[in-house]
Amino acid sequence: MRAGFPDFRLGNVLATSFTGTLTERRGEAVERIPTPQRLVDWLTVNGLAVESCTTAQLELAWELRESIHAAATAAAIQDALPASAVQVINDCSIEGRAAAILTPEGNRRWRLSSASCVEDALGVIAADAISIIAGERDGTLALCASPTCRAAFFDTSQSRTRRWCDMNTCGNRQKKARFNANKRKNPRSAK
Ligand SMILES: [Zn+2]
Repeated sequence: MRAGFPDFRLGNVLATSFTGTLTERRGEAVERIPTPQRLVDWLTVNGLAVESCTTAQLELAWELRESIHAAATAAAIQDALPASAVQVINDCSIEGRAAAILTPEGNRRWRLSSASCVEDALGVIAADAISIIAGERDGTLALCASPTCRAAFFDTSQSRTRRWCDMNTCGNRQKKARFNANKRKNPRSAK
C-alpha cells in the first residue's frame, strides 16, 4: 500500500468493491482513488492490471462508479433506474474489449486489449454491475444501515438480512455507538 492514501475496502463483488472506493458518501466522504496511480493500484489488486492511467480515464472511472452507485441504490429500493446512469454503464460495457481467459488451473483471468486500456477494465466492472442489477446472480442489493454511509452492497447471506456494507467498518462503528449509548443511559452498569 502507498503511504499517504486511504487504503482500499476489498469485497468479493467487483462492482460494489468499486463503488466502495468512495466511502461515507452521506458523511465526510473519503475518496480512495484520488489519483490516476491509485486507480491503477486498485485495478491491479482486483485482477485488472493496467500499466498507466490518464486523468481523463480516472474521470471516466469516477463517472462509471457514481452511475453504478445510483443504479444499484435505485435497484435496492426498487425504484426506477436513473436513465443517465444506465447510459453510462452501458457505454462503458460496450467500450470495453477485455476477454475472459481460462487458465490451465481452471481459473478465470481477464486479458485487456492493451496494457494502458483502462476502458477495458471499466467494461468488466460495468458488466459485473449489470449482472447484479439485473438480478442474474444469487444475492440481493441492499443499502448499508449506517446513516453516514448508505452504500449499496450485494447481500449473499442465506437469510438476506445483512445490514452493513462492511462488518469491519460500518458494522463495527454501529456496534460501538450502541454500546456507548447504553453506557450513557445506564452509567452504573459499567461498574
Ligand atoms: Zn456502510
